[in-house]
Amino acid sequence: MTFENLNLIEPILHAIKNEGYTEPTPIQEQAIPVLLKGKDLMGSAQTGTGKTAAFAIPILQLLYGQPLPSAGKRQIKALIVTPTRELAIQISESFAAYGKYTGLRHTVIYGGVSQNAQTTALRNGVDILVATPGRLLDLIDQRFVTLQNIQFFVLDEADRMLDMGFIHDVKKIIGRLPLKRQSLFFSATMPPEIKKLAASILVDPIKVDIVPVVATSNLIKQSLYFVDKPDKKSLLIHLLQDKSIETALIFTRTKHGADKVSRDLMRAGINAAAIHGNKSQVARQSALNNFKNKRTRVLVATDIASRGIDVEQLSHVINYEIPNIPETYIHRIGRTGRAGLDGVALSFCDAEEKEYLKDIYKLLAKSIPVIADHPFPMRNSTHSGPVVQPRPFNGSRNRPAKSEFVASSRGRAIR
Ligand code: AMP
Repeated sequence: MTFENLNLIEPILHAIKNEGYTEPTPIQEQAIPVLLKGKDLMGSAQTGTGKTAAFAIPILQLLYGQPLPSAGKRQIKALIVTPTRELAIQISESFAAYGKYTGLRHTVIYGGVSQNAQTTALRNGVDILVATPGRLLDLIDQRFVTLQNIQFFVLDEADRMLDMGFIHDVKKIIGRLPLKRQSLFFSATMPPEIKKLAASILVDPIKVDIVPVVATSNLIKQSLYFVDKPDKKSLLIHLLQDKSIETALIFTRTKHGADKVSRDLMRAGINAAAIHGNKSQVARQSALNNFKNKRTRVLVATDIASRGIDVEQLSHVINYEIPNIPETYIHRIGRTGRAGLDGVALSFCDAEEKEYLKDIYKLLAKSIPVIADHPFPMRNSTHSGPVVQPRPFNGSRNRPAKSEFVASSRGRAIR
């Protein structure tokens, strides 16, 4: 399957080529044709599957086919609502990339910053609006935004909206949308309340169910270090002496832990920053930008703060602590090995965390190779899993042509 097979228009094909995509991901292959036909969609898919392009491309194509107003400013015809500022910015960047040659205008609005630049962009007129729920309602109330011309509505990460307490805001927004519209609904999980919400938004939707299968892929090289808790810091500093580790996203279970690890690294002369829920939006965004631009080599994050972080070419993920929920392990390591690049996932396991490993092995249906030969081995320990010799990461991160798209039992996902 190629993008040409999806009947995309030239300006979009050109932009996709610029991005270096050679073929659609499974969610794109499944969603783009039905969306181009005007159907509603319910997607069980998370960040990392290529879902942003799966909804952005057909929206851009359908809007491109419509005449521009001969007089007056452009009206908002597509609305994408997403829970966090980070996601909103990423989605907006995707519209910029895929829509580069369409002449369509978009903007992004989110809270935690002054509204002035946002209202100026809105006053100039846009076709596509990406928004977080609170700021959107604020600007609707102040009459900077009207939803009466919306033809396309995307609700992104619905389950996370529920977690973050945004569900009432979302319901208010839905209440202001025109009834005649095309709706797309995405959620990584489908608890009953989310299913109910989906049913209230969608009409006869096509369902697309994409499961990330990163963990079973060979493109992410996983290794495990058994180490006593007090030695984790020294092991981390030791491993980061390897200069071939260009970028590393380190996971801790707590906000306090993230701050501490980042401080320890800074003291050891390693350029690091922490990102978690206690930091302001501005501080989080600037830490993320510095990391993406490779000004910061190491970002230490909690799971919640990291969700939705999409860093292309992230070479290493390090689990400083083993997560107690096995799916979290898969989500974490899936941050590397994006878009067909290979990646390395290292995990530090202390005595207390061994029981979490069992659940992870069950989910992976395999164990993780153990690196036994390191300077801080666990005392009084026998470990499970195959033992391998450490091999330095060679730094060459190739983009394989086709093998990045792998099948799973419930669907297929980009890795
Ligand atoms: P998303 O799930 O939308 O967050 O996308 C995950 C990553 O995959 C982003 O970095 C995209 O740039 C990348 N991506 C999306 N579609 C493709 C594709 N067809 N081929 C290669 N990379 C892609």
